[in-house]
Amino acid sequence: MRFITRSLLLLLASALIISAVANRLPNPNGVNTQATIDAEPNPLLANWEGPYGGVPPFDKVQVVLFKPALEAAMTENLADVDKIAKDPAASTFENTIVAMERAGSTLDRVSTLYAVWAGTMASREFQVVQREMAPKLAAFNDQISQNLPLFKRIEAVYNSPAKKNLNSEQQRLVWLYYTNFVRSGAKLNAADKARLSQINQQLAGLFTKFSQNVLAEEDGEFVALKSDADLAGLPQSVRDAAAAAATTKKQEGWVITNTRSSVDPFLTYSDRRDLREKVWRMFVMRGDNGDEHDNNATITQILQLRAERARLLGFPTHAHLRLENSMAKRPERAMQLMLAVWKPAVARVHEEVTDMQALADKEGLSIKIAPWDYRYYAEKVRKAKYDLDQNEVKPYLQLEKLREGIFWVAGELFNFKFTPATDVPVAHPDIRVWQVTDKTSGKQIGLWYFDPYARAGKRSGAWMNAYRSQERVNGEITTIVSNNANFVKGKPGEPLLISWDDATTMFHEFGHALHGLNSNVTYPSLSGTAVARDYVEFPSQLMEHWLSTPEVLNKFAVHYQTGKPIPQELVDKIKRSATFNEGFITVEYLAAALLDMKLHMAGDKKIDPRVFEKEALDELGMPHEIVLRHRLPQFMHVFSSDSYSADYYSYLWADVITADAFGAFTEAGGPYDKKVAERLRKNIFSVGNTIDPAEAYRNFRGRDPKVEALMKKRGFPS
Ligand SMILES: [Zn+2]
Repeated sequence: MRFITRSLLLLLASALIISAVANRLPNPNGVNTQATIDAEPNPLLANWEGPYGGVPPFDKVQVVLFKPALEAAMTENLADVDKIAKDPAASTFENTIVAMERAGSTLDRVSTLYAVWAGTMASREFQVVQREMAPKLAAFNDQISQNLPLFKRIEAVYNSPAKKNLNSEQQRLVWLYYTNFVRSGAKLNAADKARLSQINQQLAGLFTKFSQNVLAEEDGEFVALKSDADLAGLPQSVRDAAAAAATTKKQEGWVITNTRSSVDPFLTYSDRRDLREKVWRMFVMRGDNGDEHDNNATITQILQLRAERARLLGFPTHAHLRLENSMAKRPERAMQLMLAVWKPAVARVHEEVTDMQALADKEGLSIKIAPWDYRYYAEKVRKAKYDLDQNEVKPYLQLEKLREGIFWVAGELFNFKFTPATDVPVAHPDIRVWQVTDKTSGKQIGLWYFDPYARAGKRSGAWMNAYRSQERVNGEITTIVSNNANFVKGKPGEPLLISWDDATTMFHEFGHALHGLNSNVTYPSLSGTAVARDYVEFPSQLMEHWLSTPEVLNKFAVHYQTGKPIPQELVDKIKRSATFNEGFITVEYLAAALLDMKLHMAGDKKIDPRVFEKEALDELGMPHEIVLRHRLPQFMHVFSSDSYSADYYSYLWADVITADAFGAFTEAGGPYDKKVAERLRKNIFSVGNTIDPAEAYRNFRGRDPKVEALMKKRGFPS
């Protein structure tokens, strides 16, 4: 089973993030899981066969197979663990820690397939299985972390004098097992263990409820646009998307759905202030409508259970528990950073609002900038100040060309080569696969799956998923990773054009993929992206910088009709406006991050989310023209699982490191400097969690990260 925090929490976390679906509702109890299984072996349990060291059998998946496969894999895993716990020999690194690393590979395989379905193929039928399996998986997790004889063996290795003879990677692995077992309750008495397990199962149920409520409102609500007058200001691409959405929703005309990808462009371009307000209200009220999908009571329950669990485990609050093994270590340090950035960001917002208000006044409208006006007037100011029209940039940003661009960057920095692999099964025909090899030696490095398009049952946003982590304990295992996005498919035969923001996101997610692909470690629990949450966004955010390098722009940002590279003049405009609207971007994010931390530092206090949100924002001096990027009743990062709870600050923390790290390139020969790239690979991208992140960073940069580079990147005075 490797380790709880890796495969299982990953499984729990990703399993709970599911997307809106358009399928018909089958009989909720009609998922018959027994019949198929008794007849023949469940293909989800099998070893991965085929080329490239074996590939996931996506072609063999049926929803009905998940429950029996997960149950069989959990049983097998428990038996493996039991054998390790009951080993009559004295415990050693080999017979305990390494044995644990080897156990549970079947569950790893099944849970990978399960997570892919949860994230990208979540039909109603699948959601029924999820609701049933979430508490069972939580209970299973506890069964291992609370196994006393097993913990005694781990503790013995941890305290053994022989530990000093292990290499540093092995010692870190021992430390990780020990502290994670302790953090999961291994040292509690029987009564507290039972209570802890109860809490975890209750939480798993509440997380599922929370997500499914948000999804129900995203799926169920929309604003219909009836006439041309309702479309005023919308560019053709937004109109096309709204028309496509109307077809899906079986409506006449055009539809703005209740998701960010539909709402944000509408708020940016619609000339109709009344409709902007209507769409904005729909979106920010998700989970807060006082109906059967209202999440407020669920939040109160989640917070109370988390506070109780933290206390059981000996931490003052959930935030202290969560941050113990992070790079920040203590919530106070994270708060300190956030507040340092908060003040200049709010000051910048006031400047931005002044600019926007002036523009609105000039239009002769007697309005006061409201939250539903922000994106709209920001776009107008962008045009007025920088003469930059986002729609002017788009024709140069073709999805497939940019994909070639990121391959090229990976070739320059890490010597990778990408070759299409058409001989592997995929979960959906839209998904394509590439083999990754070393350019010089031809040695296989792994596989990269690319799933770019939106579809029913796929969660929104963009993300990376590791299907198989690199390691050497079970032989030479190579990495399999995927990048996922939600682009709306273009017209057949026409290249898909994307925005600058989307292109940045592509480079970001590819950064996560490269982090996985570069991994060069021995033990699976320490592999690739299995690092602290406030460190994992560093490699990905770092890769964003390569999009705007002249090398990428000249070769890959080419006009879809003329093939000409993006004009320098347009690039200059993009660069000049790089810190534009940074007040808004920082404040809407940071306010949410601050509230996340404050909520989880509040301890046992019974919290009414509506009151808390208002009071906390007043206290912070939140500008009235901006709303939280995620209001509490829809804050999926924080309430759909534990994974980003008290951790939403991580993006800012990692960006401090990112901005500072890119400085290493600019101070040397530029973004493609071979020596710095090699240092980056050696100390950051290849080491996984084999070393303390702060130390790894010092090995790369020669010092600790400084916050100044971030302030400069965002255009704030430092
Ligand atoms: Zn990321």
